[in-house]
Amino acid sequence: MKVKKGIGVSPGVAIAQAVVLNAEEFDIPQRHVAVDLAQAELARLRKATAVSKKEIQELRKQTAEKIDKKTAGIFDYHLMLLEDKELHKQFTAMIVGSHAAAEYAVATVLRNYAKLFHDMPQHLADRVHDVYDIEKRLLRNLIGQHRQTLAHLKRNVVVVAPDLSPSQTAAMDREHVLGIAIDVGGQTSHTAIVARGLGLPAVVGLNDLTADAAGGDTIIIDGTRGVVVLNPDAETLAHYQQMARQQVEFLHSLDALRDLPATTSDGHEVLLLGNIEFPRETATVLDKGGQGIGLYRTEFLYLGSDTEPSEEDHYNAYREVLNLCPDRSVVIRTLDLGADKYTQSRARIPERNPMLGLRSIRFCLQHLPAFKTQIRAILRAAVGTRASMMFPLLTSLKELRQAKAIMRDVIEDLEEEGVECAPDLPVGIMVETPSAALQCYAFAQEVDFFSIGTNDLIQYTLAVDRGNERVASLFTGANPAVLRLLQEIIRAGQRYDIPVSMCGELAGDPKYTVLLLGLGLRTFSVTPSAIPEIKKIIRGVTMERALAVANRVMKLDSEAEINNYLRMEMHKLLPEAYTD
Ligand code: PEP
Ligand code: MG
Repeated sequence: MKVKKGIGVSPGVAIAQAVVLNAEEFDIPQRHVAVDLAQAELARLRKATAVSKKEIQELRKQTAEKIDKKTAGIFDYHLMLLEDKELHKQFTAMIVGSHAAAEYAVATVLRNYAKLFHDMPQHLADRVHDVYDIEKRLLRNLIGQHRQTLAHLKRNVVVVAPDLSPSQTAAMDREHVLGIAIDVGGQTSHTAIVARGLGLPAVVGLNDLTADAAGGDTIIIDGTRGVVVLNPDAETLAHYQQMARQQVEFLHSLDALRDLPATTSDGHEVLLLGNIEFPRETATVLDKGGQGIGLYRTEFLYLGSDTEPSEEDHYNAYREVLNLCPDRSVVIRTLDLGADKYTQSRARIPERNPMLGLRSIRFCLQHLPAFKTQIRAILRAAVGTRASMMFPLLTSLKELRQAKAIMRDVIEDLEEEGVECAPDLPVGIMVETPSAALQCYAFAQEVDFFSIGTNDLIQYTLAVDRGNERVASLFTGANPAVLRLLQEIIRAGQRYDIPVSMCGELAGDPKYTVLLLGLGLRTFSVTPSAIPEIKKIIRGVTMERALAVANRVMKLDSEAEINNYLRMEMHKLLPEAYTD
């Protein structure tokens, strides 16, 4: 038995056999073969090419069925590459002419080919990833490693991997993947957010778990405490099985709250909304008893597709959400690309410090066609609904004014074209940088609402990379500087009479619920799986108590004291909850 400590990012217990994924980095030596083996090498390559083709055809079929034909079109280019006569000529020349091993020929030829795209316009430069993808697939089939497919599994598993992208996480077979354990990452990395969205227990920041675990090992994931147990002894296994049963019972007990309002026990109404990344999650939010969508992270439209979404792609996604919420609030956030979302993974030259780089509203203000396309789609989709639009990561009023001017241009264009739109759509901002928080009184006079993004606000206030496991213990909302900023943002909203919501992960952490109520927060937007528990806490507390808690906490000046006090309060309110 081996116990490993990481960072619990999605609560709950999962027990199953491990599937261990490799980093898919192949070390291809410069290997040559004897002259008389050239034909055998060519035969190996033909076989690997045929297997790769079959895999891609299957992927194309599944993608067309599960997503759409347009997305499935990505794989046409992969097939074209595999059938490219010129490339095969070059493989053959290396194998027969230079006696290279098939792997070495594939890696050399395809890497040279990829280089040709480097200096091309962006839409062609992106082809580099397809070439690398084909290279990996061919190498895998030559070397004999089989891709672990997580979309279709026959048994229950826990996935162990060095890292997972948010789209890999989202594509997992929900029926059979019971939990996730990965080597890197922090509390608010986007993979962690997707895992929480799916309600999958997850532990990240485990360093070298992939080196310790082997496929088929029994593994326990304790996403609440951030613990992973490999090959548990009988006593430990029984203990966790009991915990898993309690957890199921607790969750069932929360079902009864589904249709009840999120009102404190002395009658103060709270709006409890859900965060989504994909339109299909809207139904989950409503099913868990959420009253609407407080954060729709639209950049996930870009993940999983090789082409930029069209105005219709945007429009259809937004309509899908809004159709399910005809009379409910839906906050659509404009693109928050950059940092760990999408652009870095596709960049030819990744930014040195992407969290401080060209991300979010900065990216949009430099990529106006994409930004305008999205705003057009939002304005059109919002007709007759309670949608609103929100800009992320502002640091200055100038950015807000620029973004609003672009919005006005788009409205003018739509009106000139006679296209129906919602020109009076409420516009808000994410307050998620210290500079926005410190200017909140000025911002409050120019927007219709605030939504506090604690994931980035904590990251930038405490100078702690939200996705870095090495500093994860320093990432906390219990820092007095963070709490003071939260208090001011809420006060600015009260002063100028605009709603203030919180959509960062802190809003879904039960330990903070009473404190946030006491600080004056009246709208919480949380990951769907957290809705029932947060509702239970809200319904179990009076505003008087919440105010007393907030008063006490704001007088404390150490994180440790604040944490201990909040934990104690939380246990008083919800002793049956499965918390640390
Ligand atoms: C945040 O920063 O708190 C937030 C909600 O935005 P994201 O996690 O998408 O950066
Ligand atoms: Mg953010």
